Amino acid sequence: MSTFAAAMQSAFGDDRVRAGVALAPYTTFRVGGPADWLIETRSSDEIESALSVARAAGVPVTILGGGSNVLIADAGVRGLVIRPRGGEVHDLGDGRVRADAAVTINGLVRWTINHGRAGLEAWAGTPGTVGGAIVGNAHFGGRLIGDLVSEVRLIARDGTRMDEPAKKLAFGYDRSRLQESGEVVLSAVFRVTVGDPAALRVIARESLAFRKRTQPLDTPSAGCIFQNPEPGRDVLPDGVPWSAGALVDRAGLKGAKVGGARVSRAHGNFIVNEGRASAAEIRDLIDRCKVAVRNRFGVDLREEIVYLGDF
Ligand SMILES: Cc1cc2nc3c(=O)[nH]c(=O)nc-3n(C[C@H](O)[C@H](O)[C@H](O)COP(=O)(O)OP(=O)(O)OC[C@H]3O[C@@H](n4cnc5c(N)ncnc54)[C@H](O)[C@@H]3O)c2cc1C
Repeated sequence: MSTFAAAMQSAFGDDRVRAGVALAPYTTFRVGGPADWLIETRSSDEIESALSVARAAGVPVTILGGGSNVLIADAGVRGLVIRPRGGEVHDLGDGRVRADAAVTINGLVRWTINHGRAGLEAWAGTPGTVGGAIVGNAHFGGRLIGDLVSEVRLIARDGTRMDEPAKKLAFGYDRSRLQESGEVVLSAVFRVTVGDPAALRVIARESLAFRKRTQPLDTPSAGCIFQNPEPGRDVLPDGVPWSAGALVDRAGLKGAKVGGARVSRAHGNFIVNEGRASAAEIRDLIDRCKVAVRNRFGVDLREEIVYLGDF
């Protein structure tokens, strides 16, 4: 047994760290090869100790939240994959709630509604975890989740824990500093107000209905593949909408297929896995969309999804 495996076993027990685990079932795309090692952590302290054991052994670490914004390579991911699970939500009593990174956004929405706390209800139906939403600054209906955040508890790769105010996280559309720093989210504090659960439930249901109407939710996907172009950053021909889905559609790619991967007919920014798509096929289709949009409109689409592993 490797020194790393032995150290993980001594920190977590025999059956918690698994070798050669297929990651596809842990992603909404249902695609991706094995992790060398996978641990499902149950608390911030466990995330910290897994990072510490891996650091001491020189083993690379990848964090996998809900797997709803990633494309994992067919060859899988080398090193240790940490998948935070469980987690808790606490009312801090001053118009703020703290949620662990592993809490799902839907779990957080349910908790806040049931406790009469308003602010997050419109995020109902957003797949993934608090950690993933902070890293990518999830967006819905023109709003960014970072706008609701007051601070985030992070752990740097060298093991330093810190509480960072939102203004230091460089939140932007689909952006946070964590994408470059590799810091790991342990928990986040959200600002809330007092609300009537029945009224909040109505808003949550409207969000769910909107998603059902506009997104292909019955087929595996990773949501939007591309970021929308941004005024000030991109230049679009007159009359062309600032929407990646519309650009893919107008470039003639809606419904296009590579192997088991298809650009959704319902939403030009979704690629769906129609059965046995490989990561290579999905990547190929993504590249075709980018080339077609560049050739037609002179716009370089940027991925919203994150590639994990070697492509
Ligand atoms: C049907 C569907 C609809 C969607 N709709 C939306 C939408 O409306 N708005 C939107 O913004 N997104 C949407 N998405 C994309 C996705 O839900 C969000 O990006 C979500 O926030 C990703 O969270 P996750 O936990 O699944 O992250 P993952 O996909 O697991 O990871 C994403 C990135 O975050 C990193 N990461 C995850 N957790 C942590 C952590 N604790 N610390 C450090 N790094 C971490 C990972 O390493 C990876 O780089 C949709 C996806 C699907 C499938």
